[in-house]
Amino acid sequence: MIDRLERNIRYLRVSITELCNLRCRYCMPEDGVCKKRHEEMLTEEELIRAIRAAASLGIEKLRITGGEPLVKKNVVSICRRAAEVEGIREVCLTTNGVLLPQLAKPLKEAGVSRINMSLDTLNPEKYAYITRIGTLDQAMAGLEAALDAGFEKVKINAVLIGGFNDDEIVPLAELTKKYPVDVRFIEMMPMYDSGDFDSKAFIPYTTVLDKLPEAVETAPDGGVARLYRLPGGQGSIGLISPVSAHFCGTCNRIRLTADGKVKPCLHSGDEYSLKGLDYDGMVAVLKDAIWNKPAWHGELSAENRSQAGRNMNQIGG
Ligand code: SAM
Ligand code: SF4
Repeated sequence: MIDRLERNIRYLRVSITELCNLRCRYCMPEDGVCKKRHEEMLTEEELIRAIRAAASLGIEKLRITGGEPLVKKNVVSICRRAAEVEGIREVCLTTNGVLLPQLAKPLKEAGVSRINMSLDTLNPEKYAYITRIGTLDQAMAGLEAALDAGFEKVKINAVLIGGFNDDEIVPLAELTKKYPVDVRFIEMMPMYDSGDFDSKAFIPYTTVLDKLPEAVETAPDGGVARLYRLPGGQGSIGLISPVSAHFCGTCNRIRLTADGKVKPCLHSGDEYSLKGLDYDGMVAVLKDAIWNKPAWHGELSAENRSQAGRNMNQIGG
């Protein structure tokens, strides 16, 4: 569906849980989230109904996210049913990878076409620090499991954090030489509760280019990343700049939270509830949300935090 600014909205990011088995410092508080009452969250039936309603309006691509989507017991069933919805051409999933050793194969069989895996550092101590409770070994086992299950071009998402991983840009980028993966560096976005990061932590995507003088720019693939390749690299290196150079004018996505709120813009407080609605009701609300998608997400910086009203684990990234 075309919004009032003539953007063609074709991509829905669906968060299926706010819960997570990690506690990344830029994403959620240390003590986790207050578990919402079961009745507040979308049921599997409502979720699939919402996806059917969105597909009827032209949504073709889904990304299943969270919180951590793999902690949701029915994640495989959700993915299978989502992939079967008429009009949906691609079901992708974003995960921290910890549970991929058990779930990569079932997800592949369920019709998930691509996996993005978050990995901000290759240093075990730093991984334990940034995730508060994770181990690098678990994440790396998840990456191997995704590749063994036959997922092609797994994407590694690394959040760029000044003073934390700007000294690891080269080794992270060189994962594209070691594995058949793409690596995406994403500017850290200042959510209202994204830890104690000060302005020095919010570094622009150009920092990556400074560290990779041999990277050669390649043609864009229709996504939001500027793409590059290292000599000998199997996959691409992407730079995503929601903070320093926003891409709102060509944004083609909307989001659905686990508690049933359509968010037409990641950083806006605007929310449209689908909870409890029948199919026609969901179509009407989705139309309203898409039509009224904000023009842009407003200034973001350490001082000007996101107006989303939620942390990232409650939206899905
Ligand atoms: N748990 C899964 C994961 O970590 O991949 C999926 C949900 S997570 C909220 C989705 C993506 O959002 C991850 O790649 C994560 O690194 C990213 N993210 C979380 N908080 C962020 C922030 N403040 N700025 C930029 N990216 C963020
Ligand atoms: Fe969990 Fe993903 Fe947020 Fe990390 S980024 S706390 S893995 S939801």
